[in-house]
This record gives sequence, structure tokens and C-alpha cells, in this order.
Amino acid sequence: SAVVVAGGAWSRLFLGNAGVSLPQLKVLNSVLRTSAVQDGPETAIWSNGFSLRKRLDGGYTIANGTENIVDIVPDTLRLGLKFLPSYLQEWRSLQLRLTGSGRWREEAAQDRRWTPQQTTPFENARVLDPAPSQKAIKQGWEAAQRAFPVLQGADVVQSWGGMIDVTPDAVPVISQVDDLPGLFVSTGYSGHGFGIGPAAGRLTADLVTGDAPVVDPHEFRLSRFWKK
Ligand SMILES: Cc1cc2nc3c(=O)[nH]c(=O)nc-3n(C[C@H](O)[C@H](O)[C@H](O)COP(=O)(O)OP(=O)(O)OC[C@H]3O[C@@H](n4cnc5c(N)ncnc54)[C@H](O)[C@@H]3O)c2cc1C
Repeated sequence: SAVVVAGGAWSRLFLGNAGVSLPQLKVLNSVLRTSAVQDGPETAIWSNGFSLRKRLDGGYTIANGTENIVDIVPDTLRLGLKFLPSYLQEWRSLQLRLTGSGRWREEAAQDRRWTPQQTTPFENARVLDPAPSQKAIKQGWEAAQRAFPVLQGADVVQSWGGMIDVTPDAVPVISQVDDLPGLFVSTGYSGHGFGIGPAAGRLTADLVTGDAPVVDPHEFRLSRFWKK
């Protein structure tokens, strides 16, 4: 009797097929990891131009910390006005990118509606594994080495990209869909889903079971984007 859509960056596409509009875009972040380092910093740090965290294997996971690439895709135009206030506030850390990633063509060619008999976009592309920005990787790595010269002896052994799913106000949607009783959404974690996942899962469960919600769910309602 209840369905929860918790599809991460895929939630907008999935809900669109059910006639539910979720404003959600993707932002590319780039990360690297190093070989093991002796006597490096023990704490997780987010500072000028880099963020880092020591790994169990003795190396470090390092990111630029501030550079976020926003590929221009058809949804950017569809949702532009909703995201404009956040963009104006955060433009220094957002890099708009029109060409080079192939994402415009990819998303423009994607079906937005399908029947149960058709192959869905999720079967065509099962994982999002975007190429990292080499510029962001280089900047983050250099900034980390400047701050901690002990890192200079290490090698970069891997780098990868990840898509962060964002809502216009960077607040998740944990909500029933008003027009479709029984349909719930738990998504749009806007780069904070690891940190707030346990409580977000609890609130999602409370909404589904009808228990007293662990926190006031009002701020997380889907309808905030469409009704005042
Ligand atoms: C580079 C990077 C760094 C980050 N750093 C942090 C951090 O420091 N702290 C923090 O708190 N968060 C961080 N995040 C964010 C965090 O990873 C996300 O907020 C979190 O993973 C989102 O969880 P989710 O369950 O909503 O979505 P996901 O983890 O994406 O899970 C969605 C799942 O739904 C599945 N799915 C999609 N469509 C379908 C379908 N049609 N049928 C069946 N299954 C489907 C997908 O395969 C996927 O497994 C970071 C993210 C990135 C990319």
C-alpha cells in the first residue's frame, strides 16, 4: 500500500514517469585517493582549496572541496528559474559547463515517459560514473600538499567523479506525494546523504507507517516547490 522512491539522482526521472515533478539537478564532484602516508594529519579537514580524510589503508581521500561542475542539460533550462536564487548565492563555487561531457546529448535523448513493457532509462544506464575533472583533481591535490608537505611523497593512485543530486534549496524531499496517496519520496540529499541518512531514513519510515514523526516534516515537503 506504500511505495518509497529513494532513487538518488535518478528520482526526478522516475517520478516524472508517474506525472510527479521533482526539481532536481546533478552536480559533478571529483575525488582522488593517495598511497599510504607516514605521519600525516589524523582528522578530517575542509580548508582553503581542499578537503581530506585519512583512509583505513593509510592513504587519503582528497577533493577540491569547492569546485562543483554544473553541466548544462535540458533539465537546467526546464528548472532554471527554480534554481536561480541558489545559483546567484553559490555561483563562485559552481562552474557551468556547456560542452565536453556529452551530457546534453545523453539526457536529451533519454525517454521521459515509458510503459512497463518498454526498456526504461534505468536499464540502459545502470550506474552514473562520470569522468572526474582533472583540473579539480590537480587543484585539490596541490592545495592539500601545500598545507601538508608530508603528502608530497605520496602518489595519486585513483581518481573518480560522482554526481551529487541537488534540490533548489539544498534541502531533501522527505514527503508524501499529495496527489498520489501511498507514494512517498525520500531524496534530494544535496551532498549530505551520508551524514543525515540515519535520521532521514527514520523520518521516511515514520511517514510511511503513520507514526509520530521524529522531527517536523514540514520543511521537507515536496509541495514547497510548487505551493506557497
Ligand atoms: C563526490 C561525492 C562526495 C560526497 N560527500 C558526502 C559527504 O562528505 N557527506 C555526506 O553526507 N554526503 C556526501 N555525498 C552525498 C551522498 O553520497 C548522497 O547524498 C547519498 O549517497 C544519497 O543517498 P540516496 O540513498 O538518496 O541515493 P543513492 O545512494 O544514489 O541511492 C539511490 C539508489 O537507487 C537506485 N535506483 C535508481 N533508479 C532505480 C530504479 N529505477 N530501480 C531500482 N533502483 C534504482 C540506484 O541504483 C541507487 O542504488 C557525496 C556525494 C558525492 C557524489
